[in-house]
Amino acid sequence: MSNELPILIGSHVPMCGSKYFLGSVEISLNNGANTFMFYTGSPQSLARSPIEKCKIDEAVKLMEQSNIDINNVVCHAPYLINLGNDVSSYKFDFSKKLLASEVDRCHKFHVKKLVLHPGAHLGLGVDQAIKNIAYGINEVLKDVDYDIKICLETMAGKGTEVGSKLEEIKKIIDLIDKKDKIGVCIDTCHLNDAGYDLSDSNAFLKMFDDIVGLKYLEVVHLNDSLNTKGAHKDRHANIGLGKIGYKILREFAFNPILKNVPKILETPYFNGKSPYKLEIEMLVNNDFNSSNFLKL
Ligand code: FE
Ligand code: FE
Ligand code: ZN
Repeated sequence: MSNELPILIGSHVPMCGSKYFLGSVEISLNNGANTFMFYTGSPQSLARSPIEKCKIDEAVKLMEQSNIDINNVVCHAPYLINLGNDVSSYKFDFSKKLLASEVDRCHKFHVKKLVLHPGAHLGLGVDQAIKNIAYGINEVLKDVDYDIKICLETMAGKGTEVGSKLEEIKKIIDLIDKKDKIGVCIDTCHLNDAGYDLSDSNAFLKMFDDIVGLKYLEVVHLNDSLNTKGAHKDRHANIGLGKIGYKILREFAFNPILKNVPKILETPYFNGKSPYKLEIEMLVNNDFNSSNFLKL
């Protein structure tokens, strides 16, 4: 079952059906992936299956027998969390509690990277939101002594989203008490939509290093974008079928600086079919052909 890949790549996969986490690993292996991202429940709701039902031990065993290192596995926090706005103390506390329970769930899944959307300021302004987000994360991490990194995702800049500028991500990190428990997830679709030029991966990563610091880079979301640079839209496209294009995304994925950083596809289903096996093959074998999607 071992397949050697030149890069760390996988996709987001569901944790549903009767196999739970084991199912996530099986789907990823079937796609030819050597890492993956999952949600410990629906990203849009609060429903969470009890830990005992999630087949964690079986999943860990299968990973040990194959080429997936659990240290590279990523969890995505629910979208309901918004630490950016504290006008309603009820909603802010709710977000804190939800994030804390997700951090705890990750630990029970033996997963060490948790991607979090920084939040939306909803009229409060970016500067106050940055303080709120850092305060909320500090509260959540206060009593956490195990190995976990909350990875702030770069956003497209839709509405009042915080984190579409690398400087905003850096300002949040600066306010975090436990620097060993904070990281960053860059999403290529979001970066494009936020106005960043990805055509030269070395130039982009140099800028990232100057502004944020490469040591914080823990996850890459590898997505094409339906929209042009700076559109602030956030509509993901299949690799090579969007405005960023195959060549740039492949160069990005293969940049040696990102060798140890998991690349996660969050591209949409194509005609109702999962595109991940095909997209991984196209990237690994360097043979892009848009008509291959029609054969899915
Ligand atoms: Fe995300
Ligand atoms: Fe993403
Ligand atoms: Zn997105």
